Amino acid sequence: MFDLKNFPLNYDKDALEPYISKNTLDFHYDKHLATYITNLNNLIKDSKFSEFSLKKIIIESSQKNENASIFNNASQVFNHDFFFKSLSLNSSVDFPNQLLVSFNSKQHFIDEFKKVANSLFGSGWVWLVKEAGDYKIVKTSNADNPIAHNQTPLLTLDLWEHSYYLDYQNRRADYIDAFLNHLINWEFVQSNL
Ligand code: MN
Repeated sequence: MFDLKNFPLNYDKDALEPYISKNTLDFHYDKHLATYITNLNNLIKDSKFSEFSLKKIIIESSQKNENASIFNNASQVFNHDFFFKSLSLNSSVDFPNQLLVSFNSKQHFIDEFKKVANSLFGSGWVWLVKEAGDYKIVKTSNADNPIAHNQTPLLTLDLWEHSYYLDYQNRRADYIDAFLNHLINWEFVQSNL
């Protein structure tokens, strides 16, 4: 069984203001993430999945349509924990040099990430991933997740409306810009390389 305490926030809920408000994190962390955890616990109770790690649940449940609800909720738990860890207002490190091989410059990375984020239609996620030694930016729809596609996630941005609507309403592009220019936890990215 999973618990919200297994996925702690590493900062105070007002630590990302003015770019992401405490009000947004009160809902996003305490309500949205908590609900995915409750749903997942109810779905895996008394099944083989209750013995697995979160990553193993995601990989095993991604194989079969009959496990779609388990996949969606497990993946949303992983995605949210990964997203909250991807955020920091004052990252102590900057764009990792290792990424220059694939992106040439931090600005080029930002431009590419923005292009992919703005091209995502509906709810989903934008990721920096490592795949076969290469770094790339990919988008996933709804709950989908790179670890179900043999990719290693390094960074993610939540583009479900609930992640920005209280602060930005329809100004989704401003939320994407705030993330890229002020909120990336490069120390976390570095730790995932
Ligand atoms: Mn979310």
